[in-house]
Amino acid sequence: MSRFLSKRFAAIEPYVPGEQPKERQYIKLNTNESPFPPSPQVVAAINEQELNKLHVYPDPQASLLTEAIAAFYGVEKKQIFVGNGSDEILAFSFMAFCDEEKRACFPDITYGFYPVYADLLSIEALQIPLKEDLSIDVADYLNCGHNIFIANPNAPTGIGLPLEQIEAILKTNPDQLVFIDEAYADFGGQSCLPLLSRYDNLLLCATFSKSRSLAGARIGFALASPQIIEDLNKIKFSFNPYNLNRLSILAGAAAMADENYFQDCRRQIMGNRQKTIAGLQALGFTMTDSCANFIFVKHEKLSGQDYYLRLKQKGILVRHFQKPRISDYVRITIGSDREMAELLRQTAAIFDEGGLR
Ligand SMILES: *Cc1c(COP(=O)(O)O)cnc(C)c1O
Repeated sequence: MSRFLSKRFAAIEPYVPGEQPKERQYIKLNTNESPFPPSPQVVAAINEQELNKLHVYPDPQASLLTEAIAAFYGVEKKQIFVGNGSDEILAFSFMAFCDEEKRACFPDITYGFYPVYADLLSIEALQIPLKEDLSIDVADYLNCGHNIFIANPNAPTGIGLPLEQIEAILKTNPDQLVFIDEAYADFGGQSCLPLLSRYDNLLLCATFSKSRSLAGARIGFALASPQIIEDLNKIKFSFNPYNLNRLSILAGAAAMADENYFQDCRRQIMGNRQKTIAGLQALGFTMTDSCANFIFVKHEKLSGQDYYLRLKQKGILVRHFQKPRISDYVRITIGSDREMAELLRQTAAIFDEGGLR
């Protein structure tokens, strides 16, 4: 730390992204990226002609992209906000809607960025413990009195909440913002999109990073009432009006337009999830009930830390959280057929070597 850093940031603990190692070719099952490249239409959209336009600023409204999103979801353009990853939308939402009066409320075990933004912006966070089985108890959020941030499906558990429960939260918190983070909703969860026209306190946040194979392009989007979108724009135009670069606008619009590719990718991930679950269960693993592109698994005879380290030695990266209540688990991203076959093969090898069968 330099002696210049403001005191208010001295104690901040930044978010720690999953490893992105360069020293060795790993099978990367640790950051929930898509194993598939972007749609071929994305690749075609980033052509020489477009590259030659990089000397001028991008469209600050990112109209091409918001139009593609509006067409896909059947909503109006004024109900859409796009951000530099959904992380930016999260940050803008904490800035726009939370203060001393309306704090931020979210589960104790969830996406690691929520407490970091709360800290960074000096917003008091109420962290509500998950139930023993790591699911969310919706009763905790009824008439909550604070803004609510829920990842649905939750991370890193993968457990989804049914639509009626989200609706109960919206209904009993009419004067609070309810931020539903649907980063993983395309893999079998229930989206709250059908509630959008009925609840003006709903902000649905989603991303191109997981189901649309564009983590490297940094594109997230929010669907909400035009008034909430206006508020997000107020923050954006006071912070970074050109938050999406030219190439990402093109890439996102092309990805959104290629519905066949999107459907094919998510179907493959859901199929591979089933196969991986079956393979790990045969070895004695248990797991939470995931409707995301990852699974959260543990084994009586092998600690989460050991399993993570042994897989790493064998060239496979998964995510282990050194955190109370979940340190027995590892989170495994669902990759391609070949990657998941290798995970199962190497896991079986770990059990054989350790005499654990
Ligand atoms: C990956 C993830 C995000 C961040 O997505 P980006 O669009 O890449 O910033 C947000 N929320 C959850 C729960 C995630 O897992």
